[in-house]
Amino acid sequence: MASTALADWEKVDAAKPAVEVVSSQATYNSTSLFFDVWRLYMHAPLWVQVTILVFILALLGVILSDMVERKRNKTRLMQAYENWLTWPTMEEYIKRYPETRTKRGVVCKNCSSGYIRNTSFGGLALQRVVACKSCNETMYRLPV
Ligand SMILES: [Zn+2]
Repeated sequence: MASTALADWEKVDAAKPAVEVVSSQATYNSTSLFFDVWRLYMHAPLWVQVTILVFILALLGVILSDMVERKRNKTRLMQAYENWLTWPTMEEYIKRYPETRTKRGVVCKNCSSGYIRNTSFGGLALQRVVACKSCNETMYRLPV
């Protein structure tokens, strides 16, 4: 029957073995993204390899130094907080040095100055102390 006969271009396509297509797809055997990237890296020129290596090492260095810095900063703040807690509150200060309670308010135990300033303590954000403006003596801590 004429309708089932193949045209010339169809015969050529039909002659191609289907296996060939499968095998050409199978030649690149990708098992994971890591090995793909590794293969790409190993086939790159030396200067590209060196540049990538230097970049990765620099990145690791920045991350590590940041971690160390954060740890050191946290330790310093913890120590500052513990140090802050050792200062008396205003009530404890007055109880310990009754002469500091006057009509014009709480005064410095060293120089009896009433000029005081509210100041930050050890780089802490919330914890503050009151210090004498005249002799710079820290007097007591303020409640948070
Ligand atoms: Zn003073």
